[in-house]
Amino acid sequence: MAPNSGLLGILPARIAVPADAHSQLAARAYPEPPHPYRSPFARDAARILHARAFRRLAGKTQVFTRLPADPPGDHFRSRLTHTLEVAQISRTLARALGLNVELAEALALAHDIGHPPFGHAGEKALDRALQAHGLSFDHNLHALRIVTWFEERYPAFRGLNLTLALREGIVKHSRDYSAASHPELAEYFLDEFPPLEAQLIDLADEIAYLTSDLDDGLDSGILTLAEVRAAIPLFRGFHDAALQNYPAAAPRLVVYETLRNMLNALVTDLMNEVRIRVKALGAATLAEIRRAPQRLAALSPEMESARVEAKAFLYANLYNSPGMEEVHAHAGQVVLELFAAFMADPTLLPADHQAQIPTQGLARTVADYIAGMTDSYIEQLWDRCCNRQNV
Ligand code: MG
Repeated sequence: MAPNSGLLGILPARIAVPADAHSQLAARAYPEPPHPYRSPFARDAARILHARAFRRLAGKTQVFTRLPADPPGDHFRSRLTHTLEVAQISRTLARALGLNVELAEALALAHDIGHPPFGHAGEKALDRALQAHGLSFDHNLHALRIVTWFEERYPAFRGLNLTLALREGIVKHSRDYSAASHPELAEYFLDEFPPLEAQLIDLADEIAYLTSDLDDGLDSGILTLAEVRAAIPLFRGFHDAALQNYPAAAPRLVVYETLRNMLNALVTDLMNEVRIRVKALGAATLAEIRRAPQRLAALSPEMESARVEAKAFLYANLYNSPGMEEVHAHAGQVVLELFAAFMADPTLLPADHQAQIPTQGLARTVADYIAGMTDSYIEQLWDRCCNRQNV
């Protein structure tokens, strides 16, 4: 790849979501006067940053639950630091493509806000618990509930009163819902793709965790350099180059150099592929992006297969590696037992959650409460409720 191939210019200006506070996408459920010097999406980003659910991301597992390491490390990614990495990548992408940087940043900050404790193991268990009541758990829809209802910071309304663009981006992060199955989401243009700012978040997320999980996986000793090199040609290529450029460097600095270059290559590829696809479509407006035959934010076919290959390796050797089974089983047990305990005795729920039962039903209320917990909070509560310690 040519070294500067990522600097090929911005997209047509009308593809970006306008920062105009009077535009449709800047509309809020409760109308508010425009701020004198902040764009509507800069305000959204600040509202997310100041939210309780955002701060709790610090205590939530990103991919690992209690990542085993000797000695234990506090420097492994949490959902909060992962989120900040996604925000950095999203800002870079949006700026280089001439998109709305503040919107991209706000969407990145919100993208994992709906995740329950214990990463995907926690999400799976919560979904299983809800299935028994004819419901399901979906972190995108839970994120929407957080920003439209659970966050209470304003006397005038519940929720954060985010713009339509933010709420649409949250709903459409990583998947597209059909209007037939989700009539309650009708206001979010379900038959259209989201703006590019929102489409990019999903890929920025993939790129961020691919490289950071290799980093944490190697650092923790769960992955070995030899197996990563053997299984991921993209890594091997950059690692060989780094070894050649820095023959005397410490091995871990060579790995950092490798991962940095890999991250840069993925981001540059994504940027270029978006440009190629927009150009091929001849799109010059947001409306054309929305009605394109497919999402336009994507990696090139070659890079996409390299990403899929690397992700498959991480699933087999890190996320679902033999040592993690016990950890996932514990996460599932904690979520399911706590869910059952609250179902059996709703008076164990805090008063503000109990107040939700008449409108949301008991099972949804219990799931909402559990989904908001950090890893350490749910462990403590489980100890008290279910682990035969009557406190
Ligand atoms: Mg994420």
